[in-house]
Amino acid sequence: MNSPKPSIQDFTQEELLEYVKPAFRIKQIYNWVYHKYVDSFEEMKNLPKAMQQQLHETFIINPLKIAKVQKSMDGSKKYLFELHDGHTIEAVLLLMKPKQYHEDGSIKHHERYTVCISSQVGCKVGCAFCLTAKGGFVRNLTAGEIVAQLLLIKKDNAIEANRRLNIVYMGMGEPLDNLENVVKAIQIFSTQDGMDIAPNRQTISTSGLSSKIEKLGKLDLGINLAISLHAVDDALRQKLMPINKAYNIASIIDVVRHFPINSRKRVMFEYLVIKDINDGLDAAKKLLKLLDGIKAKVNLIYFNPYENTEFKRPNEADMVAFQEYLTKRGLLCTIRESKGLDISAACGQLREEEKRDV
Ligand code: SAH
Ligand code: SF4
Repeated sequence: MNSPKPSIQDFTQEELLEYVKPAFRIKQIYNWVYHKYVDSFEEMKNLPKAMQQQLHETFIINPLKIAKVQKSMDGSKKYLFELHDGHTIEAVLLLMKPKQYHEDGSIKHHERYTVCISSQVGCKVGCAFCLTAKGGFVRNLTAGEIVAQLLLIKKDNAIEANRRLNIVYMGMGEPLDNLENVVKAIQIFSTQDGMDIAPNRQTISTSGLSSKIEKLGKLDLGINLAISLHAVDDALRQKLMPINKAYNIASIIDVVRHFPINSRKRVMFEYLVIKDINDGLDAAKKLLKLLDGIKAKVNLIYFNPYENTEFKRPNEADMVAFQEYLTKRGLLCTIRESKGLDISAACGQLREEEKRDV
């Protein structure tokens, strides 16, 4: 397919100045796109007709189409999006807390959502346990393709423009391998006239590309960092995550020590627990030592099995014992609720199902 026109969602307000003047018109466009969720430039009624036409000739609005939605029992929803070149990516709307009412029927608090979005089609990192890795790497997403995942999910669920929500870059792909577009997406998401989601509500999850973590740190965006650690010694980590040959555990820990983190926040270390591989207390003991002196929290993740994988989901008792070992010794540790497990929410799984169906 021919490369289409760029999406308006690829552009920061500053970049749009090259196409649209005066600047207040850009605020109006942002308002139509990110607050009113319009699909066409003709709907932007307060813009001059000639400007609507010029925008229509230069840009598209949505670079993605919703291809499939799966609803989970717990209120979470998984989206499969189709890109202009026919490739597909996933994003998940996670309902962290349902809406609550006072006794008189008035709203006590609205739903709390976290949206998990993708940064690449496929992934180069090739982790042994990850379904996204199985299909290899196809391409980076543009900033607009990253931004549109959330915009379309908000629209599809009629989530008001100003509703607070969190973003995690934990879908398909390695965000730091597509740093430029991810950084731009972070900026577009946080634009006040747009979605207004501050960087401290956004979390990048990385397999540990130390040099890129350092680069990200230097940008000092105020973003949260999550490290997919998954193993405490290099030999095992190398088997699970070949990237460990280039960036070993020590290099990651070193770079994290220097990462600028908001004083009220912690760096999250994700630890994917796989039965009989890394679920023992010996690992918990080493992890405690490794993170000594870092403002860290650990998030234990159940390995989510899929067809033809040698790896197994861990026992709940082992997860709890691992968690208790750490928390009793003062290291904050949570077990990730397997939200949307019934809709196979771990990365890459919906896309694989879809491929099998056709
Ligand atoms: N590439 C980045 C972000 C995307 S992966 C990273 O690796 O951090 C997001 C998370 O999903 C990672 O922590 C990854 O280890 C985890 N994951 C991958 N496959 C999984 C599976 N089968 N079950 C549970 N979590 C999985
Ligand atoms: Fe890539 Fe993350 Fe999957 Fe590893 S776990 S292959 S880094 S998406």
